[in-house]
Amino acid sequence: MIDTVGRVLFTEEQIIKRARELGREIAEDYNGEPIYMVCTLRGAVVWMADMMKNIPNDVEIDFIMASSYGSGTISSGSVNIKKDLEGDISGKNVLIIEDIVDTGITLSHLKKHLEKKGPKSVKICTLLDKPSRRIADVKADYTGFSIDNLFVIGYGLDYDQKYRNLPYISYIEG
Ligand code: 5GP
Repeated sequence: MIDTVGRVLFTEEQIIKRARELGREIAEDYNGEPIYMVCTLRGAVVWMADMMKNIPNDVEIDFIMASSYGSGTISSGSVNIKKDLEGDISGKNVLIIEDIVDTGITLSHLKKHLEKKGPKSVKICTLLDKPSRRIADVKADYTGFSIDNLFVIGYGLDYDQKYRNLPYISYIEG
């Protein structure tokens, strides 16, 4: 079956501009303190690269992978950590870099998982947010763009592992 890709929702230029704005906000909020950036694999890698270049604080980076097993279109709430952090985050300011918050189930689980490791703080920076889909009580501290209920692709986000390399955000028409 051939996928129908929709129009461009956000260009690379728009995303980079937003990363710069959020980077400034983050630098101000953390007041020169070091930040431990945790990228959620795999969708957030492109956004992570943009964000880390725009945060002037001392930055460490790490990666985590969670997978949720849903029944149908709604996640069941069962989230599995497939790849955990390499480093020790105790006493550190953790900033989760996420691609998209949909139901929020994955992220709320991830946040709790990281909080158990004794960090000083855990905040969330997401490229995209679909607030109308939220089930879990979780809110990003920094959001690139809020969108309607579309299945978005590109800029790291996939559809069946395809389209991650698109240098813009689009969606699959369904
Ligand atoms: P949640 O637990 O918030 O429902 O799901 C979050 C994860 O589902 C995201 O990190 C992402 O991997 C995937 N996801 C949710 N919505 C979309 C979407 O519109 N496009 C893509 N490519 N992935 C999505």
